[in-house]
Amino acid sequence: MRIRSSLTGLALVAALLPLPAQALEIFACEPEWAALAQALAPEARISSATHAYQDPHYIEARPSLIARLRRADLAICSGASLEAGWLPALQQRAANPKVQPGRAGMLFAAEHVETIDQLDHVPFGAGDVHPEGNPHLHLDPERIRQVAAVLSERLGRADPEQAAQYRAAYLRWSLSWQQRMDKWRERAEPLRGRTLVVQHSTFDYFWRWLGLEVVADLEPKPGVPPTPGHLASLVEDVKAEQPLAIVHSWYQDPQSAQWLAQKTGLPVLALPSTTEPEQGIERLDQLFDHLLAQLLEQVDAG
Ligand SMILES: [Zn+2]
Repeated sequence: MRIRSSLTGLALVAALLPLPAQALEIFACEPEWAALAQALAPEARISSATHAYQDPHYIEARPSLIARLRRADLAICSGASLEAGWLPALQQRAANPKVQPGRAGMLFAAEHVETIDQLDHVPFGAGDVHPEGNPHLHLDPERIRQVAAVLSERLGRADPEQAAQYRAAYLRWSLSWQQRMDKWRERAEPLRGRTLVVQHSTFDYFWRWLGLEVVADLEPKPGVPPTPGHLASLVEDVKAEQPLAIVHSWYQDPQSAQWLAQKTGLPVLALPSTTEPEQGIERLDQLFDHLLAQLLEQVDAG
């Protein structure tokens, strides 16, 4: 009996002690938002539904992703229909009230910044375009900061006991981010006014931020893969323009860019459109450092 009562006593003491803080579960649709969450909530358990070698417009609603979304306290995605082909199915099957559309736990970045290229209406046959504008807003450092402010507030709502810590982490991050932005702008000076050939509007925010201009897109229409006819139609203009490079994302097939490079003598530049820890690009500042270095290398080589 004595043993039993002392066990009961122990159980009682344990029940009175504060529980170890439960780590927040964060579901990111893309690696860039996982990286941002990591910077603002280093204690959280964070996972990304996609990686740098995947096209975030099209992924499969796998059961493992449903399970992760089911556990999430907070989800962060680009929005502006980027995930329209797969996230609604995940939300429905995960049946997690915290991350349903409209809830504070479901953060769509595009709802908190001004997107570029918004359309009043989508003309028939326009391709894969969205009236809400370009969803690839994470490639603008300034918009990243705007999203970070919202994310910090949502972290505090999801985990009120740690709200002050999230706020402090955001303020620290924001200060160092501003310093980095100043340096990036300075470093990017030789890129201003230069031109590029691209494949999809993935980096449009970044080009605008840097003052780079797109002279041709390998896609005949947004989201429509390059066709031989369209590529052939670009050759003369591109030759005359002499852009810095033909850029494609890591997740894209390089064939079209290589074909045009052969015809024009331009270099091909494969760039990561998001963070990729296995390539040493774990944080967002490392992503922008990498992108800038790659572009500046082209200036030096040219
Ligand atoms: Zn896109």
